[in-house]
Amino acid sequence: MKDMDPKSMAAHAGSARRPSVSEPEVAPIYASAVFRFGSLDQAEDVWTGRSKGYVYSRMSNPSVEAFEEAIDALEGATGTVAASSGMAATNMVLDALLGHGERIVAASVLYGATKTLIEQDSARRGVGARFVDIVDLEGVKGAMEPGVKLLFCESVSNPLMEVADIPALASIAHEAGALLAVDNTFATPVLMRPLELGADIVIHSCTKYINGHDDVMAGTVSVGGDKVDAPGLLEAIRHSRTLLGPVLSPFEAWLALRGVRTLGVRMERHSDNAFALAMALKGSDKVTAVHYPGLDAANPTCAAARLLQEGYGGMLSFELDGGREAVDGMIRSLSLAAFVPSLGSYATTISHPASTSHRSMSEDEKLKLGITDGLVRVSVGIEQEQDIVSDFTEALSRI
Ligand SMILES: *Cc1c(COP(=O)(O)O)cnc(C)c1O
Repeated sequence: MKDMDPKSMAAHAGSARRPSVSEPEVAPIYASAVFRFGSLDQAEDVWTGRSKGYVYSRMSNPSVEAFEEAIDALEGATGTVAASSGMAATNMVLDALLGHGERIVAASVLYGATKTLIEQDSARRGVGARFVDIVDLEGVKGAMEPGVKLLFCESVSNPLMEVADIPALASIAHEAGALLAVDNTFATPVLMRPLELGADIVIHSCTKYINGHDDVMAGTVSVGGDKVDAPGLLEAIRHSRTLLGPVLSPFEAWLALRGVRTLGVRMERHSDNAFALAMALKGSDKVTAVHYPGLDAANPTCAAARLLQEGYGGMLSFELDGGREAVDGMIRSLSLAAFVPSLGSYATTISHPASTSHRSMSEDEKLKLGITDGLVRVSVGIEQEQDIVSDFTEALSRI
């Protein structure tokens, strides 16, 4: 190195290796797309799995693996595969599991893009897709025709906060020879661990609570339980990622892992604040309905809500008397809560499903599912409870 021309030195100086008997306490950012081998034999050993090692960051990367390991532990999974977004994660599951002539049964109330993806992707690949009311277990059972390989739902549904009865849905799926995939974005593994309740696959949009700071796009797929060939399915999902290419960057994996560190305290606070806001909204004469899993013991999904541990989460929605105009008036009056069509961050935000996340649905479909023009979704933040509640009660008093 010493005798090299500076132009060559520029390409080589500053080695990646930093020998040290002490180790970094925090996982470093491995911003390396490539890895270097000392011999053909060594490369052969890594390629065939005889030695642990990395080849190319589209296949695997140490920072991404550190993040995967954390989600794995939280969900109690056999393995986890991270991707560049929640949609990429869902895409990999559909790609790995469903072939021409096979079928998927999915909840009719889903994150808007997930529903569009299932509809479009299925049509394109010749996969039969059917949507069902996930709370109607007899109806779900009836939809499990031969050829159904996947039952898909959200643990807490968007935007009506219905809680899925995962143990019952898992038995229905398994009796029909299918797998159950659960999008656990709203509950997070702090409030629900679907694999422990019988599900086979758990998907996260880590863009939301897992990262929790509105500065990263990321997704994960975890596989576990004893009803699925977990190593085989994980291999297929990794293969999908390698070929489709939606990899998580090492920087974003590092940030998301940093977000995970405070997930426990954030979820506790989100849940406490959301409960307080749900109670306050219920008492308002401008509000005709409040959807929050912890609120109404008579509601059928409240029974399933007992599956949620340590709180009912930070998401709620409510129906405003006066439709779109009243919602617009409220948005203009709120000062702490911003209109941001996403969720799961530290700050309180609101969204209007009919004109944002669920806008691609027809008017008929929206009405049938209860997504009216007066429906407001709130992602309750970790601010001081009283500041959140009074922001809403004051805004409501002005419309
Ligand atoms: C946001 C979201 C997704 C999609 O995730 P991205 O990270 O935006 O791709 C999927 N499911 C749910 C429930 C979501 O909230």
